Amino acid sequence: QVNQIIATCMSLGMFVSINQRLDAETLALVAEEFGYTIEFVSAEVVESIIEEEDKEEDLQDRPPIVTVMGHVDHGKTSLLDHIRQANVIAGEAGGITQHIGAYSVTREDGRQITFLDTPGHEAFTAMRARGAQVTDIAIIIVAADDNVMPQTVEAINHAAAAGVPIVFAINKIDKPGANPDRIKEELANMNYLVEDWGGKYQCQEISAKNGVNIEELLEKVLLEADLLELRANPNKRAVGSVIESSLDKGRGYVTTLLVQSGTMRVGDMILSGSHYGHVKAMFNERNQKVDEVGPSEPALVLGLNGAPQAGERFNIMEDEREAKDIATKREQLQREQGMRTKKHITLDEIGRRI
Ligand code: GDP
Ligand code: MG
Repeated sequence: QVNQIIATCMSLGMFVSINQRLDAETLALVAEEFGYTIEFVSAEVVESIIEEEDKEEDLQDRPPIVTVMGHVDHGKTSLLDHIRQANVIAGEAGGITQHIGAYSVTREDGRQITFLDTPGHEAFTAMRARGAQVTDIAIIIVAADDNVMPQTVEAINHAAAAGVPIVFAINKIDKPGANPDRIKEELANMNYLVEDWGGKYQCQEISAKNGVNIEELLEKVLLEADLLELRANPNKRAVGSVIESSLDKGRGYVTTLLVQSGTMRVGDMILSGSHYGHVKAMFNERNQKVDEVGPSEPALVLGLNGAPQAGERFNIMEDEREAKDIATKREQLQREQGMRTKKHITLDEIGRRI
């Protein structure tokens, strides 16, 4: 009963009104008075938006989303840069690329591939930790003049844990000390037997620096994609994930979003975490304006009123009021949880404060 709760609060030295929100700690204290313990659920759970299941007939093919992972200096950046540059030359004018955390390439046969171009594979793990599964296929790159290294193993394990198929790229085959067979043997010792050794893992020897066999590698990625039968419904309001977000002096908050299904358009009302805003403008990694972004496509978006975290989900809302309403609730819950976690101080901290 409300009266009992108010009375209890008073007995705890708090004078509260009937429609007042209590912070987490107070709630726990009051509940305790009544012999209950409270379990707090996260803000995302409370205010998550229920996304409709798509009907079979609404689904259409979508491009694969690919992440490149591997040990430091084995050639991730070189490979991603080469693919991007090759695409710029093949594509229309407007050559200079900007780093937006993801880009999409269109091949001569019209097939598209989206690459997540996030530094290292930290972003991949950060996103996975937040429950966002954005990668369809992982390219694991290993330098042929080196060995399978700890970060290579880590990358393989991450992909395996996520259930993401792997294509191996054995890089730097142009180097004098290169020995691709040694890498294949090391992989075999880990139970990753590559195709030309009778195994099931596709593998391509490449030189990222000289652009050798990159087309062949992408062919194998597309073959893997075919097996996955990737599909999404483009004809609904967009949903997807935040790739990265930051504050830009001139443009305000700039956010790279990856649409996972539906279509995002200029003017749409985005909600992500506790941030929202109309899409003012969208750009691709070549800094060209785009009006529409479909499934598996990334875009740099202007117009959000803050920077959501990488891996955060985004939704397109009916209108600003709805977005603001949910954003406000999420913010409030986050604040309350923040207060709660701040109250958990260790004895060590108390010692330091004194
Ligand atoms: P990352 O740390 O995995 O992003 O590796 P980078 O792409 O930065 O490459 C590390 C170094 O290896 C750079 O100096 C590259 O120029 C060089 N490198 C990358 N790919 C190749 C290659 O195919 N052949 C040769 N010879 N050098 C390469
Ligand atoms: Mg790099």
